[in-house]
Amino acid sequence: VNYILRAARALTPFQELAPAAVLIRGSVIDAIAESIEPPEGARVYELGDATLAPGFIDLHVHGGGGFSLATTDPEEIGGYSRWAAGRGVTAFLASIAAARPEDALPLLRAAAEAISRGTTGAELLGVHLEGPFITLPGALPRSWMTPPDAAFLRQLAGAAAGCLQLMTVAPEAAGADRLIAAAEKAGVTVALGHTEATCEQAERAFALGARHVTHAFNAMRFHHRDPGVIGAALQRPDVTLEIIADGVHLHPAAAAILISAFGPSRVALVTDGVTPAGLPEGSFQIGGQEARLSGGRMLLPGGTLAGSAATMADVVRHLVLGGLADLRTASIMSSAVPAGIGGVAARKGRLAPGYDADIVALSPQLEVVAAWARGAAFDAGVR
Ligand SMILES: [Zn+2]
Repeated sequence: VNYILRAARALTPFQELAPAAVLIRGSVIDAIAESIEPPEGARVYELGDATLAPGFIDLHVHGGGGFSLATTDPEEIGGYSRWAAGRGVTAFLASIAAARPEDALPLLRAAAEAISRGTTGAELLGVHLEGPFITLPGALPRSWMTPPDAAFLRQLAGAAAGCLQLMTVAPEAAGADRLIAAAEKAGVTVALGHTEATCEQAERAFALGARHVTHAFNAMRFHHRDPGVIGAALQRPDVTLEIIADGVHLHPAAAAILISAFGPSRVALVTDGVTPAGLPEGSFQIGGQEARLSGGRMLLPGGTLAGSAATMADVVRHLVLGGLADLRTASIMSSAVPAGIGGVAARKGRLAPGYDADIVALSPQLEVVAAWARGAAFDAGVR
């Protein structure tokens, strides 16, 4: 099926076209230009004053719309995939943590099964395991944490059947060096996070192969005499980081410091969204703990933030309306940058011929009007 989307403008995201037309053939973008003559039989969708941008890629998300990605049911992951596509997300890594280390094994098997069945909405690219080899739990259960164990890592990677892409590790724990080496061997990218590592300990981990920083500033130390993981990452152009720019997890000035120090090409926007994200306020179970969603904050009883209630469109809107980035820059940080980190930059994260037809249409108020995931249309009404 061929069709054309027409809108006031498009961000590729590196270039801006105004007006803009995108020709989609099946699941792939065939052409993008200011105007395209519709081929015989092609349907034309007029999107008026909307801006077309590459679909959002969320590298750190636990669930949303009532769906949990830490599930033993691959169908629930499929449900999230369709719900997220209606909100402009066209690819994601499933972030998994569990009550106890061994509990992660069936969750990884379910994610691997969801990938082999194929997701019809947002594409599940792989798994981000948030632990268990961490030292600072943040909102994660303390019982999830365990000392580095390369043999257990191999067991986890085996359960994930090749789809374990990213793992958050605290590098200061005894045995972390060997764990980082084992992760590299297993094809798993190591992210530093949930850690009290000093700058020197983090420098060492990056030299050993760690390449990413999990929710920068959150659940890590940062002090002017010991800038920790952030200080070490700044010296390494090959290291990327992710930020939860929901206005709750980071002061806007803290987000601005990271974006200006590292540059947008090294910063991915993530939600760290949890199961109730996108739902009305109320009480929910998060990883076996009782949490309350109120005023855009997901809180545990002690007042710890229990992940975020934001969607990718929310973080993009927060960044742009807060004056932290223009829409083009926010689009780069929500598509092209995470596509690179997720290893899919050759087919996702850009509006260009041959790329997956992963597109979000945003209103002038930056609300999601509609989205296309590998050519299939979604909107917020899709369940
Ligand atoms: Zn998380």
